[in-house]
Amino acid sequence: MQETLSCAECGTLNCHKHDSRYPKFCLTTNVDEALLDDSLTSYQEEGLDRTIALAAADIEGKYYGELTRVEEILAFARRIGAKKIGIASCVGLASESKIFAEILKVHGFQPFMAICKVGSRDKTEIGLKEEQKIRPNTFEPMCNPILQAKYLNKEKTDLNVIMGLCVGHDSLFIKYAKATTTYLVVKDRVLGHNPIAALHLTQTYYKKLLSPKEY
Ligand code: SF4
Repeated sequence: MQETLSCAECGTLNCHKHDSRYPKFCLTTNVDEALLDDSLTSYQEEGLDRTIALAAADIEGKYYGELTRVEEILAFARRIGAKKIGIASCVGLASESKIFAEILKVHGFQPFMAICKVGSRDKTEIGLKEEQKIRPNTFEPMCNPILQAKYLNKEKTDLNVIMGLCVGHDSLFIKYAKATTTYLVVKDRVLGHNPIAALHLTQTYYKKLLSPKEY
Protein backbone atom coordinates (compact mmCIF):
# COMPACT_ATOMS: atom_id res chain seq x y z
CA MET A 1 0.00 0.00 0.00
CA GLN A 2 1.41 3.38 -0.99
CA GLU A 3 1.95 5.70 1.93
CA THR A 4 0.16 9.05 1.79
CA LEU A 5 2.25 11.61 3.61
CA SER A 6 0.43 13.80 6.09
CA CYS A 7 1.05 15.97 9.15
CA ALA A 8 2.20 12.75 10.85
CA GLU A 9 5.40 12.89 8.79
CA CYS A 10 5.93 16.68 9.07
CA GLY A 11 9.21 17.85 10.57
CA THR A 12 8.51 21.59 10.55
CA LEU A 13 4.98 22.34 11.83
CA ASN A 14 5.34 25.61 9.92
CA CYS A 15 1.57 26.16 9.90
CA HIS A 16 1.92 26.89 13.61
CA LYS A 17 4.61 29.58 13.82
CA HIS A 18 5.61 30.51 10.26
CA ASP A 19 9.26 30.28 11.28
CA SER A 20 10.35 27.46 9.00
CA ARG A 21 9.35 25.92 5.63
CA TYR A 22 6.39 23.91 4.55
CA PRO A 23 7.16 20.35 3.45
CA LYS A 24 6.30 19.38 -0.15
CA PHE A 25 3.31 17.30 0.89
CA CYS A 26 2.01 19.99 3.29
CA LEU A 27 -1.73 19.94 3.97
CA THR A 28 -1.70 23.75 4.16
CA THR A 29 0.07 24.54 0.88
CA ASN A 30 -1.72 21.74 -0.99
CA VAL A 31 -5.06 22.49 0.56
CA ASP A 32 -8.28 22.01 -1.37
CA GLU A 33 -9.46 25.63 -1.36
CA ALA A 34 -13.11 24.62 -1.46
CA LEU A 35 -12.71 22.56 1.72
CA LEU A 36 -10.84 25.38 3.44
CA ASP A 37 -13.52 27.91 2.44
CA ASP A 38 -16.24 25.55 3.62
CA SER A 39 -14.60 25.22 7.00
CA LEU A 40 -14.18 28.99 7.35
CA THR A 41 -17.82 29.56 6.42
CA SER A 42 -18.87 27.31 9.29
CA TYR A 43 -17.02 29.58 11.72
CA GLN A 44 -18.09 32.82 10.09
CA GLU A 45 -21.83 32.20 9.85
CA GLU A 46 -23.93 32.75 12.96
CA GLY A 47 -24.73 29.42 14.57
CA LEU A 48 -23.52 26.77 16.96
CA ASP A 49 -20.22 26.07 15.17
CA ARG A 50 -19.25 29.74 15.49
CA THR A 51 -20.39 29.90 19.12
CA ILE A 52 -18.37 26.80 20.02
CA ALA A 53 -15.26 27.89 18.16
CA LEU A 54 -15.26 31.38 19.68
CA ALA A 55 -15.93 30.02 23.18
CA ALA A 56 -13.09 27.49 22.92
CA ALA A 57 -10.63 30.07 21.59
CA ASP A 58 -11.68 32.68 24.16
CA ILE A 59 -11.07 30.25 27.04
CA GLU A 60 -7.74 29.20 25.54
CA GLY A 61 -6.61 32.81 25.21
CA LYS A 62 -7.94 34.07 28.51
CA TYR A 63 -6.92 31.20 30.77
CA TYR A 64 -4.01 29.55 28.96
CA GLY A 65 -2.39 27.12 31.38
CA GLU A 66 -4.47 28.38 34.31
CA LEU A 67 -7.64 26.31 34.35
CA THR A 68 -8.10 22.62 34.93
CA ARG A 69 -10.27 20.81 32.42
CA VAL A 70 -13.12 20.76 34.96
CA GLU A 71 -12.97 24.55 35.09
CA GLU A 72 -12.62 24.84 31.33
CA ILE A 73 -15.83 22.84 30.92
CA LEU A 74 -17.64 25.22 33.30
CA ALA A 75 -16.32 28.19 31.33
CA PHE A 76 -17.23 26.54 28.02
CA ALA A 77 -20.76 25.62 29.16
CA ARG A 78 -21.38 29.19 30.25
CA ARG A 79 -20.10 30.68 27.02
CA ILE A 80 -22.26 28.48 24.80
CA GLY A 81 -25.31 29.18 26.96
CA ALA A 82 -25.71 25.59 28.17
CA LYS A 83 -27.96 25.01 31.15
CA LYS A 84 -28.58 21.27 31.24
CA ILE A 85 -25.39 19.21 31.17
CA GLY A 86 -25.55 15.52 30.32
CA ILE A 87 -22.98 13.27 31.92
CA ALA A 88 -22.27 9.99 30.12
CA SER A 89 -20.35 8.10 32.76
CA CYS A 90 -18.57 4.79 33.00
CA VAL A 91 -19.77 2.87 36.05
CA GLY A 92 -16.14 2.70 37.19
CA LEU A 93 -16.12 6.49 37.45
CA ALA A 94 -19.52 6.87 39.11
CA SER A 95 -18.04 8.49 42.25
CA GLU A 96 -16.03 11.04 40.28
CA SER A 97 -19.04 11.74 38.04
CA LYS A 98 -21.17 12.44 41.09
CA ILE A 99 -18.59 14.92 42.32
CA PHE A 100 -18.60 16.55 38.89
CA ALA A 101 -22.42 16.71 38.99
CA GLU A 102 -22.18 18.45 42.36
CA ILE A 103 -19.68 20.95 40.95
CA LEU A 104 -22.04 21.65 38.06
CA LYS A 105 -24.93 22.29 40.47
CA VAL A 106 -22.82 24.64 42.59
CA HIS A 107 -22.11 26.64 39.43
CA GLY A 108 -25.75 26.90 38.44
CA PHE A 109 -26.00 24.11 35.87
CA GLN A 110 -28.48 21.23 35.82
CA PRO A 111 -26.67 17.90 35.54
CA PHE A 112 -28.33 14.75 34.23
CA MET A 113 -26.28 11.58 34.34
CA ALA A 114 -26.72 8.23 32.61
CA ILE A 115 -24.34 5.45 33.63
CA CYS A 116 -22.92 3.03 31.03
CA LYS A 117 -24.74 0.00 32.45
CA VAL A 118 -28.15 1.67 32.12
CA GLY A 119 -30.80 -0.84 31.00
CA SER A 120 -28.79 -3.59 32.72
CA ARG A 121 -28.96 -6.27 30.00
CA ASP A 122 -26.56 -9.18 29.84
CA LYS A 123 -23.77 -8.97 27.26
CA THR A 124 -24.91 -12.22 25.63
CA GLU A 125 -28.08 -10.43 24.46
CA ILE A 126 -26.09 -8.65 21.76
CA GLY A 127 -24.18 -11.74 20.68
CA LEU A 128 -21.18 -11.77 22.99
CA LYS A 129 -20.15 -15.28 24.00
CA GLU A 130 -19.80 -16.32 27.64
CA GLU A 131 -16.05 -16.85 27.15
CA GLN A 132 -15.69 -13.24 25.97
CA LYS A 133 -16.90 -11.89 29.29
CA ILE A 134 -14.54 -10.66 31.99
CA ARG A 135 -16.05 -13.35 34.24
CA PRO A 136 -17.66 -16.05 32.06
CA ASN A 137 -20.91 -17.68 33.20
CA THR A 138 -21.92 -14.78 35.43
CA PHE A 139 -24.38 -11.97 34.74
CA GLU A 140 -22.34 -9.23 33.14
CA PRO A 141 -24.25 -6.13 32.09
CA MET A 142 -23.38 -4.68 28.72
CA CYS A 143 -22.37 -1.08 28.33
CA ASN A 144 -25.20 0.67 26.51
CA PRO A 145 -23.84 3.96 25.14
CA ILE A 146 -26.70 4.21 22.64
CA LEU A 147 -29.22 4.21 25.48
CA GLN A 148 -27.05 6.70 27.41
CA ALA A 149 -27.19 9.01 24.38
CA LYS A 150 -30.94 8.52 23.92
CA TYR A 151 -31.58 9.35 27.58
CA LEU A 152 -29.53 12.52 27.30
CA ASN A 153 -31.27 13.39 24.03
CA LYS A 154 -34.65 12.92 25.70
CA GLU A 155 -33.58 15.29 28.46
CA LYS A 156 -32.60 17.79 25.76
CA THR A 157 -29.19 18.38 27.26
CA ASP A 158 -27.34 21.42 25.95
CA LEU A 159 -23.88 19.93 26.40
CA ASN A 160 -22.72 16.38 27.11
CA VAL A 161 -19.60 15.40 29.01
CA ILE A 162 -18.04 11.96 28.64
CA MET A 163 -16.63 10.48 31.81
CA GLY A 164 -14.36 7.59 30.88
CA LEU A 165 -16.48 5.60 28.45
CA CYS A 166 -14.62 2.64 26.90
CA VAL A 167 -12.96 2.98 23.51
CA GLY A 168 -15.71 2.22 21.02
CA HIS A 169 -18.51 2.73 23.50
CA ASP A 170 -17.53 6.38 23.42
CA SER A 171 -17.73 6.25 19.62
CA LEU A 172 -21.30 5.01 19.77
CA PHE A 173 -22.23 7.61 22.35
CA ILE A 174 -20.83 10.40 20.17
CA LYS A 175 -22.58 8.95 17.12
CA TYR A 176 -26.01 8.95 18.79
CA ALA A 177 -25.79 12.01 21.06
CA LYS A 178 -27.56 15.06 19.68
CA ALA A 179 -25.95 17.71 21.87
CA THR A 180 -22.43 19.01 21.58
CA THR A 181 -20.14 16.59 23.39
CA THR A 182 -16.79 16.96 25.10
CA TYR A 183 -14.65 14.80 27.36
CA LEU A 184 -13.70 15.28 30.96
CA VAL A 185 -12.06 11.87 31.41
CA VAL A 186 -10.53 9.66 28.71
CA LYS A 187 -10.45 6.12 30.01
CA ASP A 188 -7.15 4.31 30.44
CA ARG A 189 -7.55 1.57 33.02
CA VAL A 190 -3.81 0.99 33.21
CA LEU A 191 -2.49 4.55 33.28
CA GLY A 192 -4.92 6.23 35.68
CA HIS A 193 -6.91 7.72 32.78
CA ASN A 194 -3.86 9.45 31.42
CA PRO A 195 -3.37 7.71 28.06
CA ILE A 196 -0.63 10.05 26.87
CA ALA A 197 1.74 8.51 29.43
CA ALA A 198 2.17 5.51 27.10
CA LEU A 199 3.33 7.85 24.32
CA HIS A 200 5.71 9.68 26.63
CA LEU A 201 7.26 6.35 27.61
CA THR A 202 7.86 4.87 24.15
CA GLN A 203 11.62 5.34 24.57
CA THR A 204 11.59 3.31 27.77
CA TYR A 205 8.87 1.18 29.39
CA TYR A 206 6.44 1.32 26.46
CA LYS A 207 9.04 0.68 23.72
CA LYS A 208 7.00 -2.41 22.90
CA LEU A 209 4.36 -0.18 21.31
CA LEU A 210 6.75 0.53 18.43
CA SER A 211 6.95 -3.17 17.51
CA PRO A 212 4.08 -4.68 15.51
CA LYS A 213 1.73 -6.89 17.47
CA GLU A 214 -1.78 -8.09 16.80
CA TYR A 215 -4.10 -7.06 19.61
S1 SF4 B 1 -0.15 21.49 7.71
FE1 SF4 B 1 1.83 21.40 6.71
S2 SF4 B 1 3.24 22.49 8.08
FE2 SF4 B 1 1.40 22.01 9.24
S3 SF4 B 1 1.88 20.07 10.27
FE3 SF4 B 1 0.78 19.58 8.38
S4 SF4 B 1 2.37 19.23 6.88
FE4 SF4 B 1 3.34 20.32 8.59
